[in-house]
Amino acid sequence: MIKTSVDKRRVCVIGAGTAGLCALKNSLEAGLDAVAYERGTEIGGTWIFSEEMPKNEYDEVHSSMYEGLRTNLPKEVMGYPDYSYPDDIAESFITSNQVLEFLRSYAEHFKLKPHIKLQHEVIRVRPRLDDWEVYVWDHSTDTCDPIYYDFVYVCNGHYTEPDLPEVEGLDLFEGKKMHSHLYRKADKFKDARVLIIGAGPSGMDITNHVREAAKQVFLSHHLSTTPNTAFMGNVTQKPDVQRFTKDGAVFTDGSTESFDHVMFCTGYKYTFPCLSTDVGVQVIDNFVQPLWKHCVNINHPTMAFVGLPFNVIPTHIFDMQVRFTLKFFTGQRKFPSREQMIADLEQEIGERWGCGVRNQNKAHQMGERQFVYYNELASIAGIENIKPVIHKLMKDCGKKYIFELDTYRSNKYTIVDDENFLKNGEAIV
Ligand code: FAD
Repeated sequence: MIKTSVDKRRVCVIGAGTAGLCALKNSLEAGLDAVAYERGTEIGGTWIFSEEMPKNEYDEVHSSMYEGLRTNLPKEVMGYPDYSYPDDIAESFITSNQVLEFLRSYAEHFKLKPHIKLQHEVIRVRPRLDDWEVYVWDHSTDTCDPIYYDFVYVCNGHYTEPDLPEVEGLDLFEGKKMHSHLYRKADKFKDARVLIIGAGPSGMDITNHVREAAKQVFLSHHLSTTPNTAFMGNVTQKPDVQRFTKDGAVFTDGSTESFDHVMFCTGYKYTFPCLSTDVGVQVIDNFVQPLWKHCVNINHPTMAFVGLPFNVIPTHIFDMQVRFTLKFFTGQRKFPSREQMIADLEQEIGERWGCGVRNQNKAHQMGERQFVYYNELASIAGIENIKPVIHKLMKDCGKKYIFELDTYRSNKYTIVDDENFLKNGEAIV
């Protein structure tokens, strides 16, 4: 039950990456008593580059950031709706460090630091009758206490747990095997023959980095349209792997290649290790359910997940999801009944399946649907929608990180007003 006294409303935010900082800032602005727990030693999550590797099989390294990454979206869409990147950054496609600096300045600007507890890991979240019991492990004192909250924002990120496909014969392969989660630097592949599996944003970008050091790179994928790799002299595209062999693989077109390394750029799995089973949320085939509008826990609507959808404009979707849920958390809007939320979820899934997204694994994929989604959130909760200029700009960049990887990062965007932008000084109509 949602309490009416604002004083009593306490919000727990799990994680202080891009999503957690946004949840914290908006909750505080809504007059709630919010705290963000971050298990790391600094804020920023994904954007912290570190050469750290797991110490043993139980150790977890959070960030998948690698050396030399430049963003695949321009900084003009990567700011928050109410806090943009400074104009004095000349390039549109920026480094991970510049994103990290931006997140630090966001936290500074909105005075978030007193509300962030670093080295505090949420290890268990459990619903009680009308609030949440949250166990937080303080790494610095090695103590763990339960704390009680009215609302929980789950912002633990979803680019940490590799999603590895099962491919015949992988155990036989005697070369080195890894997932892009632990890729850090190209020089490890000096003069090697490398197979990269997957041509999504990471697969394409990492191929382009690795080929600088490697002798030969094979890029295996099943995209229906062929990505442009002509500018990468030593890269050969291949279809899916049919089976691995001792020193290479046989591909589905019958061709064979030998290589020293295989790197899986096959994406990530959603995991929520700190949520107890009575939270009522399950991940089945990478579909987090049952959630209303991809964020509200239908079984306990005082919990929201921020940032599950992919192929989106991350900061804008985070900000909208948080402002959307806060309308309900602060009592300005009433949640539909459980039955209505379930019916809504089933309808959306039916539509998705009808549009050809038959794979549960893709249940949170947005792409062009994200704009329908933003409209829905805006109209249901009466919140401001993303600006048309952001939509137009996103359309201009769509999928270029796959099909125009060689040239698209030389574009420089300038936002003129809420509707218009310039590309390399030219007006876009
Ligand atoms: P994260 O940044 O992962 O933050 C989650 C935080 O939660 C972490 O700090 C973690 O330590 C903390 N945490 C986790 N569990 C707990 C716990 N139990 N208790 C306390 N703290 C916890 N997006 C773009 O917009 N543009 C790009 O160019 C782009 N490039 C990318 C490149 C790579 C290689 C990757 C992996 C992602 C990229 N993304 C990009 C997506 C990017 O991850 C998102 O934009 C965004 O940073 C995700 O933020 P988040 O807060 O959801 O997760």
